[in-house]
Amino acid sequence: MTRTETIVAAATPPGRGGIGIVRLSGPKVPEIAAVMLGEVPSPRHATFARFLDARKEPIDAGLALFFPAPASYTGEHVLELHGHGGPLVIEALVARVLELGARRAQAGEFTQRAFLNDKLDLAQAEAIADLIDAGSREAVRAAMRSLQGEFSTMVRGLTEAIIDLRTYVEAAIDFPEEEIDFLADRELGERFQAVREHLKGVLESARQGRLLHDGMTVVIAGRPNAGKSSLLNRLAGYDAAIVTPIPGTTRDVVRERIAIDGMPLHVLDTAGLRHAGDPVEEEGMRRARAEIERADRVLFVIDAVEDPAAGAYREEHARLPADVPVTLVLNKCDLARSLEKSPAAIFQTVASLPCAEPPRLHVSALTGAGIDVLRMHLKGCMGFQTVEGGAISARLRHLESLGRARGHVEEAQRQLTERRAGELVAEELRAAQTALNEITGEFTSDDLLGRIFAGFCIGK
Ligand code: GDP
Repeated sequence: MTRTETIVAAATPPGRGGIGIVRLSGPKVPEIAAVMLGEVPSPRHATFARFLDARKEPIDAGLALFFPAPASYTGEHVLELHGHGGPLVIEALVARVLELGARRAQAGEFTQRAFLNDKLDLAQAEAIADLIDAGSREAVRAAMRSLQGEFSTMVRGLTEAIIDLRTYVEAAIDFPEEEIDFLADRELGERFQAVREHLKGVLESARQGRLLHDGMTVVIAGRPNAGKSSLLNRLAGYDAAIVTPIPGTTRDVVRERIAIDGMPLHVLDTAGLRHAGDPVEEEGMRRARAEIERADRVLFVIDAVEDPAAGAYREEHARLPADVPVTLVLNKCDLARSLEKSPAAIFQTVASLPCAEPPRLHVSALTGAGIDVLRMHLKGCMGFQTVEGGAISARLRHLESLGRARGHVEEAQRQLTERRAGELVAEELRAAQTALNEITGEFTSDDLLGRIFAGFCIGK
């Protein structure tokens, strides 16, 4: 596949509509326009034209828009034919363009060319797909911010800071007689600290952005019969998991994708965490623990009647990963009340938990009481309002690159403080820089590019 080929695709979605747009990009565009329209339309002017077939009969008539290279979306010659939005009309136009020497575009190929021609960087290209796929207004705004380059600017700022630091260290290496003093310098330590703070800030923004894009993975955990499956069904709005009064019913992990005001949320119901003995159930628990490791949040469900002091959480706490935040959900509050255990009493017992305080909510999966508050809470956790200046849109890929960059910066600092090894410090900082460059696409393998653009729709 070469970029010198001219590509064509419908730019509007399949189906019937008032207008359907066929878009072409590549070197043959002027030639194809001349044959199909009788002349090349004047650049960037909406020109009424008949779109002709091989016998010079009109297939359709509409507006033609010609964007000569490089001032176009892809950076190549681009022609848009705005015809009537019927699937057969569109297909006939595409077929005619194919006859004239173009080929069908692959998914995301227009945007891929825009990237290859430096019209946008990779994070911006991904933001275009995010904008098209956005499931909420907040996700639209976040994608727009990334598309306008806010995320790329953040990443570039961070890269600059790391380059500055590396230059400083390399200067020390170049003057070996002063190297030791130079590397022991307090200023260098402070600079490292500043870079780490900077990285932390960008990582936090990206983490929030990833939640908006991919949604948040919430694991529902807790003892058997606490009401986990019932809670999942409540959140999902229908029976997604089997609810029975027999402990250990949920042996595998049930996955459910739900939306709260358009924000995606993946909920996993997990096998009750207990000592079972049954190998199938043991396997279910092993999977539950693996899911918890990867989760964005754990909803730890407690039967507020059986376990008002949240002993189950107290027991499980040490086995939960330290960096996954927990919300305690005290379920069956309908019964708790009838047993005259007021929410205040439950609140007090839970407040005496030995560990760092997770937020706690009282709900009844059975009656639906408190579920709205839980939804609001989850929405809050996804960063609805919490990001200063507004969220950006980001993906797991970006988080992984940032995570790698952080690892290299930490290693660089370790090499500095423990071994005063200037060369190794510089090397680690260079690796951090490379990791960051992957986000904007300065250094990216063809394989990765292929995977990213394959996620786009055809015609974008
Ligand atoms: P799991 O094992 O944690 O998934 O628990 P289930 O969702 O299967 O629920 C166990 C039992 O508790 C079932 O009989 C449910 O009907 C019941 N249950 C769940 N939530 C509530 C609740 O809020 N109130 C009451 N009264 N019963 C509930």
